[in-house]
Amino acid sequence: MAKLTEEQRQQRATARARREALAREERHQRAEERRQRWRREGTYLSWEEYKAGVPCRGCGQPLLGHASDRPPQSRMTNREREERDNAEKQFLERHGECHEGRWLVSGCPVVHCFACCPTPPMGPKQAEELAKILFSSRSEDRKKELDVWRLTLTCDHVIERTQHNSHSSYSMGITRCSECETDRGVVSSERVGPLCDQEVTREPGTPGPVERERLAAELASAEAKLKRQQRNAAATQIHIDEIRAKLTARANDGGLT
Ligand SMILES: [Zn+2]
Ligand SMILES: [Zn+2]
Ligand SMILES: [Zn+2]
Repeated sequence: MAKLTEEQRQQRATARARREALAREERHQRAEERRQRWRREGTYLSWEEYKAGVPCRGCGQPLLGHASDRPPQSRMTNREREERDNAEKQFLERHGECHEGRWLVSGCPVVHCFACCPTPPMGPKQAEELAKILFSSRSEDRKKELDVWRLTLTCDHVIERTQHNSHSSYSMGITRCSECETDRGVVSSERVGPLCDQEVTREPGTPGPVERERLAAELASAEAKLKRQQRNAAATQIHIDEIRAKLTARANDGGLT
């Protein structure tokens, strides 16, 4: 087979990225349609129903068990192993054709299906935890720490989104297209730079003040690392010289006897 040119390789990578983004988008749409149908048809359990032991309205199987968390495979008793194998067999019989993945509630051996079974409701404690995380990450995401990313979507619209600068690639595979008003798969993403720098007019290609600040911090830490490495190298060199000195001293001794 002839070797691909750089251009051909690029084209293939782009085509693959587009295929993957479209597949993600389709999966997302299917999941969204399911959620809407479950909401419409009242398939979701309320927290009270769930706690009272009402079975899954998707498959009719129990959600709550009385076992504690399933032990690791190596520490399972024969009964536990049998129970697990049985649950697995039943899952494949019921959902072998669904291909959307599985979930289970700890303490209950029954395996549920993402395509057929709505996941259990969030408890008040969990909701509180989630709110805390959302709140703290929002207050943490100070404007200065946000980066702008330029995204190309499956609909070919190019939009801009922000995310925290700790990400080295765009973290979402799906995002809302403001033009189509639909959730779309992200085909490619490109980091534009810190959000705050976008408001500063400057020569194209030159870093803005926030980017400069980050680069300066990065430079300082790389320089400190180099200094540490140089000190270590110097210490190793002294050690080498000492060994060498001992070795030649021994050789001289040997020469005398
Ligand atoms: Zn179920
Ligand atoms: Zn299923
Ligand atoms: Zn669009």
